[in-house]
Amino acid sequence: MNNPFENAMEQLDKAAKIINLDKAVHEVLKRPERVLTLSIPVKMDSGEVKVFTGYRSQFNNALGPYKGGIRYHPNVTLDEVKALSFWMMVKCATVNIPMGGGKGGIIVNPKELSEGEIERLSRGYVQKVWRNIGSDKDVPAPDVYTTPQIMSWMRNEYEKLVGHEDPGVITGKPLDQGGSEARGYSTAQGGVYCVLELAKKMSLEPSQTTVAVQGYGNAGSFMAKILDEKGYKVVSVSDSKGGIKNTEGLNIEKLNEHKAITRSVIDFEGTENISNEEILELDVDILVPAALENVITKENAQNIKAKAVVELANGPTTPEADEILKEKGVVVVPDVLANAGGVTVSYFEWDQNVKGEHWSEEDVLEKLEKIMVNAFDEVWETKEKYSIDMRTAAFVKAVERVAEKTEI
Ligand code: NAD
Repeated sequence: MNNPFENAMEQLDKAAKIINLDKAVHEVLKRPERVLTLSIPVKMDSGEVKVFTGYRSQFNNALGPYKGGIRYHPNVTLDEVKALSFWMMVKCATVNIPMGGGKGGIIVNPKELSEGEIERLSRGYVQKVWRNIGSDKDVPAPDVYTTPQIMSWMRNEYEKLVGHEDPGVITGKPLDQGGSEARGYSTAQGGVYCVLELAKKMSLEPSQTTVAVQGYGNAGSFMAKILDEKGYKVVSVSDSKGGIKNTEGLNIEKLNEHKAITRSVIDFEGTENISNEEILELDVDILVPAALENVITKENAQNIKAKAVVELANGPTTPEADEILKEKGVVVVPDVLANAGGVTVSYFEWDQNVKGEHWSEEDVLEKLEKIMVNAFDEVWETKEKYSIDMRTAAFVKAVERVAEKTEI
């Protein structure tokens, strides 16, 4: 598989060429501003001390404090963290929020650790990075296998070290500890605003529009639920065990009851079981990858029948597949736009924390809609202006914004 950082730099070069980006700025954007590699000793329950490796990549803060999650996963690599921090810069700039790009990670399989060990590891991470984070410097958040509870331990450790309260040092906190309303489903909600705008551009009538969602976790299940409520016909969904379909549409409420009992969507009454490969190739109007990266590849892109792909997952489409979809005329709403609802509400959480406010769910949704609709329209206009795909258009918009604020 391609090196994720090399992929990211290819995307940067493509956007830079279109806007004739200043050479010096281009050079600056080819590397993170700061990368920290951390050795984190943790006393395990057995009494033995294990040393874990962690990273924090601070890519660019031209638009505001670095922002991005911390991932706990055995496959975390420095190149992955660097690439993700670059994509966070692009994501924040695409939706035009005053945040920069950052990302962190620890090489660990948290499923093998007790709760106490995870707490000590999380506090240990903060003990190594606290001088470089803060609500005015770098604001981490949850990512793969990191939770509101972990954010809460991290905030507590940070405040102990600096000796004062700073709730905005980290987002994705539990609601009663400075978290934001609507954060739980904000990624899907942002994706829904993109679908609604896309439907206008492509003249799709909700009740006639069929949708398939691969991945039925936080992002995918809320996407299916909200689109169903908006009158769209969700005909297929899947999780790690497989998928289901019914061309007449799924009863999402009953499906959620089924999933709560059986812990999977498969074998749901009145539906046919299908595979996770099949769901991608269904004859639907909108395909929503909401699980893993690199699922739409040069091997299956030719078989995609959807008119549009809305990327809730990060990096579900490989660069080769992107080219094939473009030739086929499939509109891809890229991850940096489609799933930016999550970081946008994280930004709202930070904004509420630094101002000492708490906004209602209604207020949060109203602000989110405005940001997502604006961003979608700007990316669409840029796509039309340069006759490029939406991903390249988002990168063009983002790089233009960052370049404008970059002082060398
Ligand atoms: P999650 O862990 O809640 O859900 C993941 C889902 O994918 C689960 O239903 C799981 O069963 C399913 N899955 C796992 N392996 C699969 C496979 N091989 N085929 C099909 N389905 C499989 O994760 P999430 O938070 O919903 O994140 C999903 C994607 O969305 C990730 O790419 C993530 O980076 C991206 N994303 C999430 C957020 C967020 O706020 N949750 C924000 C931005 C991007």
